[in-house]
Amino acid sequence: MAIRNLRFEGDPILNKPCREIKEMTPRLQELARDMIETMYDANGVGLAGPQVGVLRRIAVIDVGEGPYVFVNPRIVEMSGEQVGEEGCLSVPGKSGVVRRPDYVKTEAFDIDMKPFTVEGHGLFARAMCHEFDHLDGHLYVEKVEGELHDVQYEDDEEEGEEA
Ligand code: ZN
Repeated sequence: MAIRNLRFEGDPILNKPCREIKEMTPRLQELARDMIETMYDANGVGLAGPQVGVLRRIAVIDVGEGPYVFVNPRIVEMSGEQVGEEGCLSVPGKSGVVRRPDYVKTEAFDIDMKPFTVEGHGLFARAMCHEFDHLDGHLYVEKVEGELHDVQYEDDEEEGEEA
């Protein structure tokens, strides 16, 4: 496993739509494992392919329930609403208020290309929306209500809100 280099806002790769993964390969499985390691290393709760320079429909998320790998994810149901602060590992040191559904149900494939369905509330639902937006070339900053602002993390505060 290896830590991958993160791409940051302004890099055009972050605005490009990703291609579907038709077949799982050892190389893509290694990518998924590297993405998980890179996410943990950066204290994030999620990471999507374009953020490590790969335009494929793959994202990883861990909001404290263990890591999920999402291949070709598709949101099939959403409801409710939450309004809260969001950040992104590709937009370091910034945060902004984004409105998201409070409940999301997603169908995807895992690292072995087995289909699965997962439901998430709260932060998990927010993380899924955020990561899957990356796969369509969108950053949360497009959806921020009001101004983006600088964030200062306390040393011992959870930094786990960036994705
Ligand atoms: Zn992000």
